Amino acid sequence: MRAITVQPGVANSARLDDIPPPPASDGTILVRTLALGVCGTDREIVAGAYGATPPGEDRLVLGHESLGRVVEAPPGSGFAAGDHVVGIVRRPDPVPCPACAAGEWDMCRNGRYVERGIKERHGFGAEQFRIEPDFAIKIDGGLGMLGVLVEPTSIVAKAWDHIDRIGARSRAWQPRSVLVTGAGPVGLLAAMMGRQRGLDVHVLDRSETGPKPELVHGLGGTYHWKGLAALDGFAPDILIECTGAPAVIRDVLGRTAPDGIVCLAGVTAPGHAFEFDIGGYNRTMVLNNETVFGTVNANRRHYEMAAQALARADKDWLGRLITRRVPVARWSEALENRADDIKVIVDFTD
Ligand SMILES: [Zn+2]
Repeated sequence: MRAITVQPGVANSARLDDIPPPPASDGTILVRTLALGVCGTDREIVAGAYGATPPGEDRLVLGHESLGRVVEAPPGSGFAAGDHVVGIVRRPDPVPCPACAAGEWDMCRNGRYVERGIKERHGFGAEQFRIEPDFAIKIDGGLGMLGVLVEPTSIVAKAWDHIDRIGARSRAWQPRSVLVTGAGPVGLLAAMMGRQRGLDVHVLDRSETGPKPELVHGLGGTYHWKGLAALDGFAPDILIECTGAPAVIRDVLGRTAPDGIVCLAGVTAPGHAFEFDIGGYNRTMVLNNETVFGTVNANRRHYEMAAQALARADKDWLGRLITRRVPVARWSEALENRADDIKVIVDFTD
């Protein structure tokens, strides 16, 4: 079968390969792949900057944002042929640490987890994959190809779940507004879930034109492109940082209303030093009970939250997030960064 494979650590080693069918050891459910979403992590792996093969192998099947249709599943597994499914990316570490033992592999304490398509386990970028019932999520077939958004939405669902948990430290917490920095797929999906919670949604991005402003307006949100300084002192209750841009991160810290929560969801390379008034920052944080936290990955509960959020969302709006669909034969085009790209998917159906 055709599969997109890569040699981690070697730049531009990705290729469309012919590989054997997925081994039974990958799981009892056999899935026909419909689509694969591409994100910055995939580009990093293809650039040779990230990723690891399964032990003893030379290449890694790429891809962690999956969507497929069940071909066969064992009786009693909860899955049947024809179901649309998405695979969970991370698997708990073998020790396991207390977090993994509790099913919260997204909070793994020892870093020995593995991840499909990223770290020591083959991904979903092949015509078929196998998966364990405990790591498959059944989704609304009515979503069609939009089901490929479940994995990126799971990241956002975890962020919201943790925002709720932090907010619950005060019995009086009733947030009204959220500012999302970065209108990529994660930022826009975070804004969508904020709107589903009835919040006044603001999204800040650098793009003045293109699809992003209209997508934010389509949610009933307010779009900003002139930078944080132009927000005229607006202090949201919740701020979700999705750019990973060091200068944006510096400027969002301490930026919320009293009791506010800043969620950092974008990854940054180290090595960006700034002058920063730590005394002023600390004073704001302490006197206003403000919180900053980081979040990554998602556990099964978050994938289920994501599938529910997408099922409730406007399908036309979600469809506009997928700005390019690339047939598998031209897979490499999916990894190119083009102007006005939001989410690019590889279509495995043709
Ligand atoms: Zn663990």
